[in-house]
Amino acid sequence: MTTANLRLMAVAMLAFATSVSAAPGGGDAAAAMHRRVLTIDSHVDTPTFVLRKGWDIGERHRPQDDFSQLDIPRMEDGGLDAAFFAVYLDQGPLTPEGYERAHQRGIMKAVAIREAVLKHGDELDLALTVEDAHRIVASGRHAIFMSMENAYPVGRDLSLLPAFHALGVRMIGLVHEQNNDFADSATDDAGPKWHGLSDAGRELVRRANDLGMVVDGSHASDEALDDLIATSRTPVILSHSGVRALLDHPRNLDDARLERLAASGGVIQIEAYSPYLVATPRDPPERADAEDSLLKKLGITSLGEATPGQKRALVAGVRALDQRFGKPRAGIDDFVAQLLYALRRVGPDHVGIGSDFDGGGGVAGLEDVSDYPEITRRLILAGYDESDIAKIWGGNVLRLVERAQAAGKSR
Ligand SMILES: [Zn+2]
Repeated sequence: MTTANLRLMAVAMLAFATSVSAAPGGGDAAAAMHRRVLTIDSHVDTPTFVLRKGWDIGERHRPQDDFSQLDIPRMEDGGLDAAFFAVYLDQGPLTPEGYERAHQRGIMKAVAIREAVLKHGDELDLALTVEDAHRIVASGRHAIFMSMENAYPVGRDLSLLPAFHALGVRMIGLVHEQNNDFADSATDDAGPKWHGLSDAGRELVRRANDLGMVVDGSHASDEALDDLIATSRTPVILSHSGVRALLDHPRNLDDARLERLAASGGVIQIEAYSPYLVATPRDPPERADAEDSLLKKLGITSLGEATPGQKRALVAGVRALDQRFGKPRAGIDDFVAQLLYALRRVGPDHVGIGSDFDGGGGVAGLEDVSDYPEITRRLILAGYDESDIAKIWGGNVLRLVERAQAAGKSR
């Protein structure tokens, strides 16, 4: 999830191009291979939609109608077997009141995920272990893992961490777009506060290790990632990040760190978030004003309260604003370029896919989870075989979950 334009879920919604489908290679064999391998997206913000009144993950939606990018019918279309649903909260005040509120809302979000999974038990099930994931997928259903993006809801009282583990959280990122009490963010305008992890951050990593959670370094600053790798007893994941060699962005990893991450057994999951793929200037202040005017014109204050008609008008209005302000939008070629770069650099044991769908992710040709078979086709075209593709699509993430749980003190 990204905070910029969060209210409108507006990031890079310019031009809903259809998937690349006519290019040579792959074809039916690629589609069949895509169905055979266990596919996992390591970072989606679908819980934001799940919490929305009237929105049902069992129904088919379209980005054109409400920005949504994942539901059960489209998981079927896209051959997506499993996903990590993020318990994500905006960074709020680092005060007792702020933490208390975040804790409550974090619990609510985790419970909402569990409720949605229970409601659709014929199609979904909560995965707590690697064995769960295999069992659920073998039963023809989709496995939903739970992760936490930004440890803000845990708060300073780390004794609350087991509560989130008990609810099902199996992967945890410490920080989001601003520095917090645990770690420096890659994108805080104020610069580093801790020059890596704070003591509380190191303690959180140790406790997450004890609980058998995978530690997630996405959104952490370079120094914080170095500390995470040095502190965590099990390999670190970057659940949704990019590579700096192709775009110099603080959320993207430089080659030296990419190699250090891989050497430590870790994995980078390449994300389909346009500003990490193509250079994107910051929105001018007039953009926020124009969004306010758009909402006012539609008579709503957020997407959550909009009628279907208002939602469609909002999506169309945001697309028009993207065009008016000349916002660039990446395409699937940019995403695949980063994926292949990372693969060439560190090999198929250390790279995967974490789209950030429903949290700002989505590029032309990779609009929602139904477009996933195209990634497999591109990997085949690039020379990767089924065993490589199985690692890239899910094997690597499961290996990290397995390692974390084997090293944990509770299961
Ligand atoms: Zn994120």
